[in-house]
Formats: sequence, C-alpha cells, structure tokens
Amino acid sequence: MAKSTKTASPKKANTSSAAKQKHSHDITAGLQAKFGFDKFKGRQEEAIHSLLNGHDTFVIMPTGGGKSLCYQLPALILDGCAIVVSPLIALMKNQVDLVRGYSEDDNIAHFLNSSLNKGQIKVVRDDVVSGKTKLLYVAPETLTKQENIDFFRAANISFFAVDEAHCISEWGHDFRPEYRRLREMMDEINKDIPVIALTATATPKVQSDIVKNLGLREPNIFISSFNRQNLYYEIQPKVKVDQTIKSIVRFISQNKGKSGIIYTLNRKTTEELAEILMANGIKAVAYHAGLDAKLRAERQDGFLNEDVQVIVATIAFGMGIDKPDIRFVIHYNMPKSIENYYQETGRAGRDGLEGKCILYYSHKDVSKLEHLMRDKPLSEREVGAQLINETLAFVETSVCRRKVLMHYFGEEWNEENCGNCDNCLHPKEKVEAKDEAVKVLKVVKALDERFNLDYAVNILIGRLTPSVTMFRHENIAEFGIGKDKDVHFWNSLIRQMLLENLIRKDIEEYGLLKFTPQGEKFLKKPTSFKIVLNNLFEGADADDEETEGAGATSGAATDEVLFDMLKDLRQKQAKKLGLPPFVIFLETSLNDMATMYPTTLAELEKCQGVSKGKALKYGKPFVELIAKYVEDNDIVKPDDFVMKSVANKASNKIYIIQNVDKKIPLETIAKNKDLRLDELLEEMESIVASGTKLNLNYAIDDMLDEDDQDEIIEYFRGCETSSLDVAKEELSEFDFDWEQLKIMRIKFLCEYGN
Ligand code: ADP
Ligand code: MG
Ligand code: ZN
Repeated sequence: MAKSTKTASPKKANTSSAAKQKHSHDITAGLQAKFGFDKFKGRQEEAIHSLLNGHDTFVIMPTGGGKSLCYQLPALILDGCAIVVSPLIALMKNQVDLVRGYSEDDNIAHFLNSSLNKGQIKVVRDDVVSGKTKLLYVAPETLTKQENIDFFRAANISFFAVDEAHCISEWGHDFRPEYRRLREMMDEINKDIPVIALTATATPKVQSDIVKNLGLREPNIFISSFNRQNLYYEIQPKVKVDQTIKSIVRFISQNKGKSGIIYTLNRKTTEELAEILMANGIKAVAYHAGLDAKLRAERQDGFLNEDVQVIVATIAFGMGIDKPDIRFVIHYNMPKSIENYYQETGRAGRDGLEGKCILYYSHKDVSKLEHLMRDKPLSEREVGAQLINETLAFVETSVCRRKVLMHYFGEEWNEENCGNCDNCLHPKEKVEAKDEAVKVLKVVKALDERFNLDYAVNILIGRLTPSVTMFRHENIAEFGIGKDKDVHFWNSLIRQMLLENLIRKDIEEYGLLKFTPQGEKFLKKPTSFKIVLNNLFEGADADDEETEGAGATSGAATDEVLFDMLKDLRQKQAKKLGLPPFVIFLETSLNDMATMYPTTLAELEKCQGVSKGKALKYGKPFVELIAKYVEDNDIVKPDDFVMKSVANKASNKIYIIQNVDKKIPLETIAKNKDLRLDELLEEMESIVASGTKLNLNYAIDDMLDEDDQDEIIEYFRGCETSSLDVAKEELSEFDFDWEQLKIMRIKFLCEYGN
C-alpha cells in the first residue's frame, strides 16, 4: 500500500564498490564542461559511476534532486545514444529543449513518439545512426512498435534510462500499464545494455515493485534524503472562501512575476479560481483532465515559458514538469495523502532556491475526500481513509512539519527547529484538555460505542436532532456536558484523541467510535492531555463547495494593515461623534476601502455601503488616511479590480431567469450557456438563494413523478443539513440522483425558503 515506512526498503547494495570509478571518464570535468556546474548534488556522482561501470542503477531522489543529470551526463560522455523512457509525450519537447540548451548542436537530443510525421522520424533516425544524437526520449508506446525495435537493435545504444519509474507500479501515484512491458522490449533490443531507473517515490513498496518489474539486475541503489530544506511549509485555516481567495490573491501579488501552482480538488474550482486571479491582473490559467489535449499542452507551455504566472490545476498537472523555478505551491484543498502532498509541494524550488508551500485546510475537505471514495471497494476505502487520517494528523500537528514528513518516509530527523516551517517559526500554544477528553470518553461509553463522531459531538453540545430524539439520548446524563465548547473544538479534540489512540474509529463499522485500552486507562485515571488550540478549528470552516468561487463578492485582496488602521479611525470618529461605529461605515465598506484604496470622495462612493451622503458626512478623514498610506507605502492602486467573471455570471443569471420563464428545457439552457446540467442547477440555486423565484415545475415534472416529489419535499422539510449527500443517503431506498435532489431543493427553497 501507499503507506511507506513500515516495510523494509530495498536499500541493500548501495555502497558497494561498483559505485566507485572503474571506467576511464572524467565526470567532474564533464559536469563543468557540459553543464557548467561545479559540484555534484546528492548522490549523483556515485550513480553516474555505477552506470558508467556498466551496472544497473536505481536512483531515488526527491523532485528537484537532479535525477536527469544522472543519465544526461553519462549519455553525453559515452559512445552511442541513450534511450530515455519518459511517460508524457507532452513533456518530451521540453526535456529535449533543456538538453539542447547545453549544447551547440540541436541534433544532440531528439524525441521519438506518435506526434512526429514520417519526415521528422527520418531526421531522428538519421541523426541516431550517424552518432550525432546522444539522448533519445521515447514514450513507452514507442518501444512497443516492431519497426522501432528493429531500428534500435541495429543502432548503437549506450544504455536505457527509465524516468518516472514509479509508473511501473500500481502502488505508485501514476500507474502506466505500458511501463510493465519495458523489460521485454529492452531484452529484445539488447539484453546486455545497462538500465538506469529514476523516481522520486519514497515508498519502499513502489521501490521494490520497480526493481522487480523492470528486471533490474543486482542494481546499485542510491537513495537521497527526502528533506527539502529550501521548502517552507505552512498550513492555514480555510476560513470563508471569500477570505481564502483574497489571501491567495494577496500572496501572489506580493510575489510578482514568480511562478506558482495552485492545486484544487475539482475542475470547477480550478476554472473559477483562475478566473478570479485573472480579474485581478494575475496571469493564471486552469488545467485539468477535462480540457482537450491541445489546450492542455498550450497552457503547460505557457507556464513553462512564463506567459502564464500561475497554473490552477487538479492533480492531473505536474508530474515531470521540469520547471526549476516554481516559487510556490498552494493547496486550496487538502491533498489525499502525505505522499501526494510531498510530491505536489516538491515541484516548488527545484533549483534549490526559495519554495513556499501553503496548504489551506478545512474540515469540509475531509468529507469531500471521503465522498470521492464512496464508490470504491471496501479495501480501497480503508486504505484511503487511513491515508486521509495521516494527512489530517500532519495538518493538525504542532510538531515540525518537516519532521513529520521525514518520519513518514522512514527517515530520522532530529533537529529541534528546522527554521523553515510554520510550527518551528511560530510555535503553537497548547492547552490542557484533560477534563474535556474525559467528557468525550464518557459520551462514547454512554453511547455504547455504537455511534460515530458527528453523533457524539451532537450529544456533547446537546444538540437535539431527530436521531437523538429517536434514541432518547436527550435523557442521558452526558447530553450537553460539553455545551461550553463549540463543534469545532470537539471535532478537533476527538481527532487528536484518535491520533493519541485514546479512542479509535472502526472503519468497517461506519466509523463508529470505540474504546482502546489506553482510553479505558485514561478514563479510570485521567492524566494531562494537551492539545493544540489553533485558529484552524475555531469557526474555521469554509462554505460548501457549492458556493466556492462563484459566491466570492470580490477576489481582490484586503490590505490587513490598512484595514486595521481604518477600523481604529472609525472607532475614534465614532467616539467623537457619539455614534456606534457601524453607523459611520460598515465593516464591508472598510474592507472595500482596504482593497481599492479610494483617495477621493468620489472614489469612496464606489465602495459597498457608501452613499454620496455618507461619503460627504464621514468620508474625509478616511480618504486622507488612505492617501497618506498609499503614498507612504508606494502602493499602486488596483483600479482594475473588477470582477469580470462575476459580470459574466450576472448575465448568465438573467439569461437563466428569462429562459425558465419561457419554460425552455434545462438541457437547452445549459447547452446555450455552455454549462453542464449540474452547473446550471448550481446557478439556479444561487439565483433562488438571493431571493428570485424560479418556477421549475415544468422541468421537475419531467424528472420525477408526483409521489417522488412529495417524498423529497417531505424530507427537506424535516432535515437539518444542507448536504445533498446526506439526503441521498437517507433517501437511499429511492435511489434519486443528484440532479433530482438538487432541483427539488431549489423548488423547496423557492416555496418555503424565503
Ligand atoms: P529531478 O528530475 O530529480 O526532479 P532535475 O533533474 O529536473 O530534478 O534537476 C533539478 C534542478 O537541479 C535543475 O534545474 C538542474 O539543472 C539542477 N541541477 C542538477 N544537478 C545539479 C548540480 N550538480 N549542480 C547544480 N544544479 C544541478
Ligand atoms: Mg525528473
Ligand atoms: Zn520545522
């Protein structure tokens, strides 16, 4: 499984004498002459010696460790041409360009894959035969073609390099079945040629899969440390979506011109986020598997040659991206596993310079991840749940992030303070939670270990839900014993208790909370139990995915310093005038001021909640303060902070309202506006939520018979969550689909909601 540290790693032969020089090449001179570097990085030198000595070689280095050089340098030195297997056709050109950059002669490197025409193929072959080409990049598919095999058999091949070798393993994160046939192909070409395999995968399971499936023959294995000292790790609460987006915009604005990647969980969010960034003058594009190959290639190229500053991507983006100067990687959603997080953040700072890795975390992301797994077989769900728990532990820890990461990959890391993660730079306060932990255990006991976390929390805070009433749990002594703390506190505490093994979640039994021996002991004789109480858990919950991006009123970034100054000023003015502060300006108005920097009364009027009269009455000291602030801090006023995307959305909304009035089929409306049905329904819900009624009966009658409609309305009448997943589950006997539930909820909102 993807979990790494427990099994033995195939580290065996890596210090053997085979890694010492027997061949006659001067590789240090080669390093300087061909690449202009003075020193080898990590274990490059040993790996290169091993390959030049003719041994199979296995290089495991983190991303940015300098794996390519381990085969590029030998290829340039040796007679003949090296065949480099690389998984992604889209990236081959980039790799070839990189090598060509080291040489005067473009023939030095080529790629051979299905994107070439006959004429281009001939050029490549001629260059290989004449000995001009030292590195030939191929896709695994290329090696399955008989004519290519025949060609390579006759050519002078120096060695095989298999890059991103984890693609051979089902346990890796990018399994490519074609990689499984590589051994067979290489044998057909020439059994005696050495192979060098390279990967950044740290898990021993994948590593041993690679050795086995690639048929490496007593390979010398070189594992480098997975510590990336230059990467800064930080985890931030995802508070209101709006604010998170602002803080991202602000961060990117502060890093003008620096390349970065933002990872999100789904396609829709990538597009929305990219749109908002663009509206704020940041060159950003979305990247996900739903785009066609041409567009994907274009956007990737744009990013590589810096026409694009920020790429907002699902995890489909990034493997093998050889861009050395990515300065930040932002996770907008929680990653699926620590391994994913490590690989994705690993794309930052490959050149050894600065790389900032910021993860925004909310509890909701956990349910989203769980939701993504819902249709998987049980065993996979179990593994998935385990991985999520480990990621959660990483997110919530107050220990050095680096230490946790290194520990995960089975490396010792004993430094007190790494100096480059949030926990080391700003140690979190711990509070005693002994009494609260006891309360949790009492509740679990009172519930006979037959309920899950959410239910237990309901009991703790004394929330009367239909199920609580049904089980008559409002009558037990423990009902409401944790009233003084909120849901987030209890969630967080229980999670930390899970980590410390005071309780466990029974995954087979729907996540029911169960006692552990430690828990029993603790309850009998409570000891100190300190937990981190950081702002991650205090009201720090993002809105539903449904409102992500689209609901953002403004994607621009608030200047917190100015905002605080404006608040102080408002306070002062309020005192002076004997008025409550909000009568002067609302917080939202101050927020706008700290975003748009109005320096005249006319500009001030453009802020939300500022009328002409108000601007005249109260505005003067505010614009004066802002003008001074702008001047003192050399601020360029972002007068183009216009949310273009929102404007589009507004026109979509009008179109939808008009067409629903005309009873146009939803499929047609969606098609005309280039929306999917689910996206259309989202739009409709936001229309209804803001108070406009839509009569959707004509569409509903096509989708559901009357009884079913009643059934769903009845459910909504009594339900207490807004989650459609819960609705789907509770109505599971009817097997309604998402669209049916969604449209009924819109109807419900229309009729009873306002
Ligand atoms: P990997 O494939 O392991 O992720 P790359 O081969 O793309 O890493 O190398 C990452 C960066 O390190 C590149 O910018 C490369 O030029 C640089 N690099 C590699 N070897 C050296 C070295 N010996 N000295 C300095 N920089 C190096
Ligand atoms: Mg690489
Ligand atoms: Zn640290």
